[in-house]
Amino acid sequence: MPTRAQRPRLPEVSESQRQARQAWNQGKTGTSRPAEGAPVVERCSVDGCGSTADQPQPNASMVRVQGPGSTDSARWYCPGRCAAVGRALADLRSIGHGGGAR
Ligand SMILES: [Zn+2]
Repeated sequence: MPTRAQRPRLPEVSESQRQARQAWNQGKTGTSRPAEGAPVVERCSVDGCGSTADQPQPNASMVRVQGPGSTDSARWYCPGRCAAVGRALADLRSIGHGGGAR
């Protein structure tokens, strides 16, 4: 299910848009709670999630995620979201030491 942050947003620039929002929002105006300091990706609290694969598999359902570079150490992640996040992190780590595109 897409979260609020993933929905595309149109900028609210006109006065009528602002008033419409205010009406919908029962008069609450201003900016929403700042996301400053919040992690981009919430940390998974599952024990062993994100540990390097030189450790024993923390959990039978954990999947091993190998980075795109052969020198990257593989890590254990929960299947699904954590594994996807892990793959993205491995991709990011590969940038800057020759593992990325071009
Ligand atoms: Zn996890």
